Amino acid sequence: MFMHNKKLQYTVRVSEPNPVLASFMLEQFGGPQGELAAAMRYFTQGLAEEDPGRKDMLLDIATEELSHLEIIGSIVAMLNKGVKGTLAEASLAEADLYRSLNSGGNSHTQALLYGGGPSLTNSSGVPWTAAYIDSIGDPACDLRSNIAAESRAKIVYERLINITSDSGIKDALGFLMTREIAHQKSFEKALYAMEPNFPPGKLPGMGKFANLYVNASQGPGDTEGPWSSGEQWEKLDRVEESIPLDGGDGMASVSLSAQERTAINALSERTMSDPQSDPMTGADLGAGPGAGSTTRRR
Ligand code: MN
Ligand code: MN
Repeated sequence: MFMHNKKLQYTVRVSEPNPVLASFMLEQFGGPQGELAAAMRYFTQGLAEEDPGRKDMLLDIATEELSHLEIIGSIVAMLNKGVKGTLAEASLAEADLYRSLNSGGNSHTQALLYGGGPSLTNSSGVPWTAAYIDSIGDPACDLRSNIAAESRAKIVYERLINITSDSGIKDALGFLMTREIAHQKSFEKALYAMEPNFPPGKLPGMGKFANLYVNASQGPGDTEGPWSSGEQWEKLDRVEESIPLDGGDGMASVSLSAQERTAINALSERTMSDPQSDPMTGADLGAGPGAGSTTRRR
């Protein structure tokens, strides 16, 4: 079960209201790298996890992410507190109210539609969606995805820290950013505490293709690196002469029943194109300057 503690995980001191900054902060409330996405990602993974250690870790971190959601949501609420009151009570002249909501971002939507509370949207007002979460139910995949998600969240916090001079907000965001670093470390440890962890899943790869580097983009700019050459790699430069890599005919085929074959042949015949034709088209008939060459009128 969940319990709620009235104290935040970290103190939020906002120096003054700023509805535009509030709309930026929503990126980490209801955006793809935000705290709700993180909490839901780890919560759903944790519910289904078989390993008791990973399950405990996932539920610990999911619950902490909800606490981060509370912190970033509180920052949004504090930043909007001024406009919330003045708008509800119409305590400024119309022009001043209008101006206070129109200095950038989507702060006017936040204030008018959501009344200054943190909305489950990103900083552009796009509603939060479960599509932000890419869990697949395999620990080696999900832990890698979690590591990437934590590193993206760290970067978004870094960018948010860079756009505000409010030292209290910088401090709280610095805490949230740092916790993403700690989470990344836990997920890395959990990944490597499971051996083997690569490749993910149970089926092994095909031996001769697992070490192959395909130099599929050739020309000036071709660069060798540890990702393409060295002891563990077999580098394929003569790509065209080597395909298909299996030594077959490189064509796609399927066995059809007699009925399926009759139907597909009929379709193929009915939609056959005539390479000898040179039909006049509507584009030809209506052609004017700028049309380029067209089919000669007959
Ligand atoms: Mn977090
Ligand atoms: Mn995190």
